[in-house]
Amino acid sequence: MNESMITFGPVASRRLGSSLGINNISPKVCTYSCIYCQVGRTLQMESEPRNFFAPAAIHAQATHRLAALNRQGVAVDCLTFVPDGEPTLDSRIGEAIEQLHDFGMKIGVITNGSLLWRPEVRQAVARAHWVSVKVDSVDPRCWRRINRPHPRLRLEEVLQGIETFARDFEGELATETMLVAGLNDKPADIRAVAHFLAKIEPAKAYLAAPIRPPAETWVGTPTESVMTAAYQLFKEELAQVEYLLGFEESCAVAGEDLAEELLGITAVHPLRDKTVFSLLEGRENGRQVLNALLESNKLIVVEYEGNRFLVRKM
Ligand code: SF4
Repeated sequence: MNESMITFGPVASRRLGSSLGINNISPKVCTYSCIYCQVGRTLQMESEPRNFFAPAAIHAQATHRLAALNRQGVAVDCLTFVPDGEPTLDSRIGEAIEQLHDFGMKIGVITNGSLLWRPEVRQAVARAHWVSVKVDSVDPRCWRRINRPHPRLRLEEVLQGIETFARDFEGELATETMLVAGLNDKPADIRAVAHFLAKIEPAKAYLAAPIRPPAETWVGTPTESVMTAAYQLFKEELAQVEYLLGFEESCAVAGEDLAEELLGITAVHPLRDKTVFSLLEGRENGRQVLNALLESNKLIVVEYEGNRFLVRKM
């Protein structure tokens, strides 16, 4: 991945407002290979944090993009680390967050939480203002089936790390639980997750279901009644619960290289075709650029649950 693709968007996010994405690792390097991952199977499983981009390069890219967006009159509310993999595999994420504080904006990190058992990772991530951690299951077998973790990871350790982080973190903590039909959507599974989440007291617990094309085509979305029951079960234990089921998809492109912009966003957020069409409105050669990306197979069309998505081909 070249440095110009470190930042993307902003994408309109229900959780964070207009969120400029920071993709701080190389394509699809992750500690998990979730069956529902919207950016496909993990290409490289890793569990040891290491160097990716220099924090100064991330800062430079954010500076460049924020200036371009400012010229276009596009507002940005938040800088969010949301790569196509696990952001805490970047051993310099703490330094990168620290440098981004320069912009005086809210900084968010969306992590799967699998490395928070490491004190240095907790310390680094705690520099953000808002952190979302993933907890899909508290049962080791189910966790292995859904999240397909790196073999060196232990669920007990991961959950303990999340608890310790939550206890010490002074910012806003959110959690995200993805329910997959037939795997973790039984009342007992949901209650167990809710019980764990109640211990860490998130400001908000989000309940999600796969709405974008998943890594494994057999992954199913729970029925509406299951989602409603899950909400009720969460509410019994947690103060703030919300569904995360909408398409966070109005987005902006800031750079001159439209092809690179589209590849940068779709690497992390598969977009519905209608979103891309509205994004291209008014851009000279917009349709030609899109057609060229489709013809060269850099972008592919995937249909899922009645929607057509443009997905970056890894
Ligand atoms: S959903 Fe997140 S944690 Fe799971 S494989 Fe994809 S990038 Fe990794």
